[in-house]
Amino acid sequence: MDRKKIVVQIFTGGFKNKEIKFNDIKCKLLELMECIDVEKVIMGWSVDKELYVKTKKLLKKYNVELYLWFPCFSEVGLLEKSNLLVDYTGKEVKGYALQEDENFEFYCPNNKGNIENIKKIYSTYFSEIEFDGIFLDKIRYGSFSNKLNGVFNCFCKDCLDIYEKNNIDKRSLMIEMDNVSNEVIVSEDTPFGITEYINGKYKFKNKIWEDFFEMKSQNIYNALVDISSYFKSKGLKIGIDTFSPFISYFVGQDLEKLQEVADFIKPMMYRITKAPAGLPFEFERLIDESVHENKEIAKRNLLDILGIREYEGDIYPIKFVLEEIDFITKNLVKDIYVGIEINKKEIIAPVTPKYISENISNINKTTVKGYVLSWDLLSAPKENIDEVINWFRN
Ligand SMILES: [Zn+2]
Repeated sequence: MDRKKIVVQIFTGGFKNKEIKFNDIKCKLLELMECIDVEKVIMGWSVDKELYVKTKKLLKKYNVELYLWFPCFSEVGLLEKSNLLVDYTGKEVKGYALQEDENFEFYCPNNKGNIENIKKIYSTYFSEIEFDGIFLDKIRYGSFSNKLNGVFNCFCKDCLDIYEKNNIDKRSLMIEMDNVSNEVIVSEDTPFGITEYINGKYKFKNKIWEDFFEMKSQNIYNALVDISSYFKSKGLKIGIDTFSPFISYFVGQDLEKLQEVADFIKPMMYRITKAPAGLPFEFERLIDESVHENKEIAKRNLLDILGIREYEGDIYPIKFVLEEIDFITKNLVKDIYVGIEINKKEIIAPVTPKYISENISNINKTTVKGYVLSWDLLSAPKENIDEVINWFRN
């Protein structure tokens, strides 16, 4: 089997942030690049041009590509007026506050202004920098981290027109959403009345949910066709950040569809992260938000449907992650780089060398092309970086 490729992710702060020093990036990158082969660096998204120019110069010496890390349907509101998702009661959907640099508020992918904002920000702040590619993040709707209404959207005017055109019964959808908002689960019930999870997709007692989530994935795909053709015309390669299929389903990401617009895909397999995109975090939010009483019953039923037996509420089981990867590698033709955490943050990402080693030893046996060391090299402690080096030393 081919040796796995290594991609590194560096967070330079949000759009309004300029606190990272090039020297810190240089030290961390050299520590890694002098011991192992790095294929690409994904870096973003502060608008500090100097940082990228200097990093690119350094990477050239090592023949490493530089990708701009760009959030598409979140965060851009800090720079350009954007249109938030609208929930089924007609209210705008609120963000999730993780840290000052990221607002985790989400904008409607069907609003043309929102798509133009992405192009405008790129052309204003980043187009003069010599990037090899662009890495599109937040290509999704809100998740259960944005509360139930982070998923029960969008009902803006553009979206209502789309439902109309596609014969989606808005009325039954709203009634069903209202039911879930108030429903009490009995022993045989599951969240949303899920009956099956097969090939990365769910089946429900009421088919309206399938229509709704299918529509959402179509909308994200359509927006991405526009966005990616813009960036391709600038000569950039395209990588995309996605959830793992069992949660990507709820945010409008159908990986089989989305692979058409990308050169590579990074499914985030954050087994330990207690923040948006973290598997235990998103799973617990799904239960918490969609079930109001008898949460334990609903959780057990959903775990059964997913075929998960060894989940204790802390680290998501590697066995299940390998099943998700198996589905992805069998059904997608594009290169897959699995996102694994190497950074350490108190409480939200207690990543240790042992945890990293468990991920790599297992995922190395799959046919993925490589790894994206996520989500920030700058906040990865030395012992975690050393563990990665132990695995991939030249
Ligand atoms: Zn909308």
